Amino acid sequence: MKINKNLAEIITQIRNDNLESRSHSRDLVHWEEDHRLRSGAAKAIVFILPTKGCSWALSNSGGCSICGYLYDNPQHPDFEKIVKSIRGALKGKIQKDEKYSIKLFTSGSFLDKKEIPTEFQVEILKEIAIYNQIEEIVIESRPEYISSNTIAVLSEVININKLEIAIGLESSNNEILRNSINKGFYWEDFEKAVKITIDAGARVKAYLLFKPPFVSEYDSTKDILYSVSKVVESGVDTISINSISIHRGTLLSDLFEKNQYRPPWLWSLFLLCKEIKTQFPDLRVICDIVAGGTKRGAHNCGSCDKDLIEIIREFTLTQDFNILNKDVQCSCYNEWKSYLIHEKLSISDL
Ligand code: SF4
Ligand SMILES: [Zn+2]
Repeated sequence: MKINKNLAEIITQIRNDNLESRSHSRDLVHWEEDHRLRSGAAKAIVFILPTKGCSWALSNSGGCSICGYLYDNPQHPDFEKIVKSIRGALKGKIQKDEKYSIKLFTSGSFLDKKEIPTEFQVEILKEIAIYNQIEEIVIESRPEYISSNTIAVLSEVININKLEIAIGLESSNNEILRNSINKGFYWEDFEKAVKITIDAGARVKAYLLFKPPFVSEYDSTKDILYSVSKVVESGVDTISINSISIHRGTLLSDLFEKNQYRPPWLWSLFLLCKEIKTQFPDLRVICDIVAGGTKRGAHNCGSCDKDLIEIIREFTLTQDFNILNKDVQCSCYNEWKSYLIHEKLSISDL
């Protein structure tokens, strides 16, 4: 069984309590940012599509223990409006001599036809296929929606070599997936989806989650390193280490408010990037620090946060290992080390 019933019950209760304050009217959001393509520096245009949200979060299993994206999704999406807005945004933003990645995020799964009907998946991609400057198209999906059929539909509209499917694996450890995140799928499902995607000629990016609930920072570091090696073995060439930020209306948020959870230290992320790039020099390593330097995101003592966030951001954009050799010093380094030991001991005592 892929879920822990007790955990799912608690999460569902929290979800239902918070769904009442769900917004009903979010429009398409988009912005431009710097990006690293496999071929070098580029721009990315990121779209957050106002779909009705992740089917797993809407299911009676409550979704993932760390995720509150659903509260921002409207209940009645207008797909014709979404396609029109994407068309207008691309027209206004795409420059002749620039290279682009287009990221189509839904806070769920692009390939889930309950979230985006297949005809609109196609319509959206048609808008993108117009531009030769677009070298990469990134969509997100849970593994259960990735099949030869769902990919074949897309390959009729776009050059499938440009497609990257980002899968929120979070961890390769099935115990963590089941008892901490309530992910609803296992490593084996991810592996199968990777094979289907690569066989079809597209690529996979794996999201790994740093420091899920009930897992100490030390253990999560070890888990990420082990997960990276398994993910690389499965044929994935890009990983994104997603450092937790605490979403409201989640089990994680409840733990945080009861002082039973501290978001990760930036020192851990810095050293993780270093270790992964040392072990896997050819791997594209992205480290996304949402809400970095704040109480609900990865943070250190406050005085060294900015420097470390900037180093990690620069490393993500350039993939230049030398950036990680910069000498950053702060008195909180020792505090972090002793925190790792004490937190691990207190979680083992539970
Ligand atoms: S983390 Fe992803 S799979 Fe889990 S509930 Fe959120 S959107 Fe759905
Ligand atoms: Zn510090």
